[in-house]
Amino acid sequence: MPHLLILAQPVPPRALEDLGSLRDSRSLRTPFGEAGPFARRRPAHGPDLWILPYFGSPTRTDPRAALWAAKDLGVQRILAWDNVVGLDQRLARGDSVLPVDYIDHTKHQPSTFFENTGAGYIQQTPAFCPDISAAIAAHLPAARPVIYLGDEGPRRETAAEARMFRQWGAHVRGLNLVPETYLAKELELCFGAIGVVTALSADRAETAPGGEVRMTDRALFAILPALFAALPDPPACGCDHLQAGPRQRGVLPGDWRQWG
Ligand SMILES: [Zn+2]
Repeated sequence: MPHLLILAQPVPPRALEDLGSLRDSRSLRTPFGEAGPFARRRPAHGPDLWILPYFGSPTRTDPRAALWAAKDLGVQRILAWDNVVGLDQRLARGDSVLPVDYIDHTKHQPSTFFENTGAGYIQQTPAFCPDISAAIAAHLPAARPVIYLGDEGPRRETAAEARMFRQWGAHVRGLNLVPETYLAKELELCFGAIGVVTALSADRAETAPGGEVRMTDRALFAILPALFAALPDPPACGCDHLQAGPRQRGVLPGDWRQWG
C-alpha cells in the first residue's frame, strides 16, 4: 500500500531523488475537483511513495479533492510537511515541530465529506495519526510537540491575533494541516505532520535568516526514507476503521466511493 507525502513548499529535484526513482505521475478527477499531479516514487525499502505538491495554486483548491484522490490511489498513510509560523517564544526559525493537537481557526473551508449524513462525528483525540507521530518522534527527537493553529491565508496574522493564538495555547500557526487532518479521518486515512518554523509571529522580532530553514529541510529529507520504513505494518493506530460504527449501522455504504 503506497504512502503519500504532502509538501507545502517547493523542494529541490535532487532531494526528491533521495526518495526513490520516479515511476508515475498523474492527476485525478474527484467529486471535489481535480487533484494532482501526484508523482509516484519507489524508495530503496518499503512501499511506493506518492508525492503531492501543496503550493503554487493561485486559489486554494478544495482539500477534499486531494484526500479523495489519495484514497483512490490506494494510500492509507499521509505525511504532511508544512511551513509554520512560530508563536511560542521558545521556537526559532529552522526548528522542526511535531503537531500533536490543533485549533481550527479556518472560516471558509469544507468541514466534512458528510454534509448530508452526519457520519463525520469522529473523535479528535488523538488529533494526528499515532503511528506516524510515533515514527516522527523516534526519528526526529528534536521536533518539539506543538499545538497547531490552523488558519487561512494567504495573509499573515496580525500581532494582536498572534497574542490571542498564544493565549489559546497554540505554539505554531499554519495553513495546510487543518481541515486536512480531520477530513482524512472521515475517509479512515492516517494523517501525520511535520512542521518547520520558517517565520516568527507578527508580535515577535524577526532575526536575519542564516540558512537555518534550508539546513533543517535537508536533515528532514534525509530521515524520511527511514521514517516511512519504520511505520508498523499492518497499522496499529486504528485510523483505518474510524467509520466502523456508521458502517455497521448502515449509515455508510461498504463502498467508500459512495460516501458523502
Ligand atoms: Zn493511523
